[in-house]
Amino acid sequence: MLSLSKARHQTYELTAAQLEALDKIKTVIGPSGYITELDAMQPHVVDWRGIYKGRAELVVYPKTTQEVADIVKICARAMLPIVPQGGNTSMCGGSVPLDSSPSIVLCLSRMNRIRDFDKNNYTMTVEAGCILQKLQQIASESDRYFPLSLAAEGSCMIGGNLATNAGGTNVLRYGNARELVLGLEVVLPDGQILEGLHALRKDNTGYDLKHLFLGSEGTLGIITAAVLKLFPKPQGIYAAYCAVSSVSAAIELLNRARTESGDCVETFELISRLVMDLVLKHIPNSQDPLNQRYQHYVLLELVSTAEDSRELYNRFETILGKAMEDGLILDAALAQSEVQRQAFWSLRENATESQKIEGASIKHDISVPISVIPEFYETAWNAVLEVEPEARLIAFGHAGDGNLHFNVAEPELGKTEDFIDNWDKINEAVHRTVHKYGGSISAEHGIGQLKREELAHYKTETALQVMQKIKTALDPNSIMNPGKVI
Ligand SMILES: Cc1cc2nc3c(=O)[nH]c(=O)nc-3n(C[C@H](O)[C@H](O)[C@H](O)COP(=O)(O)OP(=O)(O)OC[C@H]3O[C@@H](n4cnc5c(N)ncnc54)[C@H](O)[C@@H]3O)c2cc1C
Repeated sequence: MLSLSKARHQTYELTAAQLEALDKIKTVIGPSGYITELDAMQPHVVDWRGIYKGRAELVVYPKTTQEVADIVKICARAMLPIVPQGGNTSMCGGSVPLDSSPSIVLCLSRMNRIRDFDKNNYTMTVEAGCILQKLQQIASESDRYFPLSLAAEGSCMIGGNLATNAGGTNVLRYGNARELVLGLEVVLPDGQILEGLHALRKDNTGYDLKHLFLGSEGTLGIITAAVLKLFPKPQGIYAAYCAVSSVSAAIELLNRARTESGDCVETFELISRLVMDLVLKHIPNSQDPLNQRYQHYVLLELVSTAEDSRELYNRFETILGKAMEDGLILDAALAQSEVQRQAFWSLRENATESQKIEGASIKHDISVPISVIPEFYETAWNAVLEVEPEARLIAFGHAGDGNLHFNVAEPELGKTEDFIDNWDKINEAVHRTVHKYGGSISAEHGIGQLKREELAHYKTETALQVMQKIKTALDPNSIMNPGKVI
């Protein structure tokens, strides 16, 4: 596999104040709270895709908000940059340090307590280092539901999810991470603690400050804890794996499923042929649920919170049957057990992993209004083919909320070098089309290092100025995750 590494080896020197700050941090946190050995720090300085390889003076693992605040204060005085880190699953190089200037990584993994669980208020107060999947389980054990769900949920942490305003598979019904938060506790770039762990659904007392930090990718402060919204636990979850006749047919199926089910659609994932091929090729025990090969699939899930959800199942069968009669669906499998449902999900969730195994790909995490997905899909793909006629399209994603991972894989028979040389042109072809259709060049992964330059082309001058003013007001010395976002 070709290396896409963007590492540039640069030299820098630490100031006397920064060297002194490192010693102070070690004293504050104690010997078990940090690491400095290069090998041990590797997992914290290289990103999930292996593209960005940075450097850190040390990695520190605070256990309390006060420890985070003490460390930040030391760094602020010495102007020593800090990279907040959760599970390091960022897709845009947001969570790893640069290699061109000194910094420390502040990993939240040891701040993993549940501070409160209020069943009647449908909330839980959790620390930033809690693994997302663990939170889903804790909610479920108390007959509640935390709907944020994404393929990295076994390793990403809630602080990282909130800092990136993560999306995932259930946005259609429950919204992004931003919409699942009632309160936040944040350590500001000067070390002050902004205490905002309110468990209120209504609170109109001026600016809603939490929204500044949700989606700020660690550039405005460190999220240390949050109050999360919970929901009634689903009683019936019904999944169908459908081969659809076209991308337009998929969108028509979404419309019908939403209206005819009483808006019970929880997930609606589009999966293209090549994604299926790659998962079947690279992920052991994967199986195609259908007998024939098709070009496009949809993983569609309906959810009921009613005790007796059988009625929804019957309605689901009717919706699928009618869509088949009308030619929207060519074939479909309706899961008959939880094992079967998980097998469907495994095809979707291994899309990213199998792509990584296959080789080089240029990723585009984009969104457009749902209604223009079919037109966008065709126009963007034609624009890519003009640049690289042998490129392969790996398209999948949360089409139900307008989000597609419109990734472009290298041609099958090598030519990888040429393909990577065309990286900027391919990006431009896709993002130009996204812009034309009123979309976003980053639907859910964020900006990080990957899209920082491009952001300047696609945001208005005024929006960029406002962002810069907020950054300067909160972090005048730019010590919070420098080189990311703006
Ligand atoms: C296989 C796979 C599938 C994925 N699927 C999705 C998906 O469906 N939807 C989606 O939205 N994303 C997805 N992602 C991207 C990624 O998992 C998410 O962005 C996730 O929310 C990041 O969480 P993390 O704990 O790994 O954060 P990290 O990667 O460690 O950090 C991400 C960013 O947040 C900052 N940060 C981390 N913790 C804090 C904190 N406590 N305070 C302030 N800033 C902080 C970091 O500095 C960095 O900028 C996927 C990634 C992988 C590898």
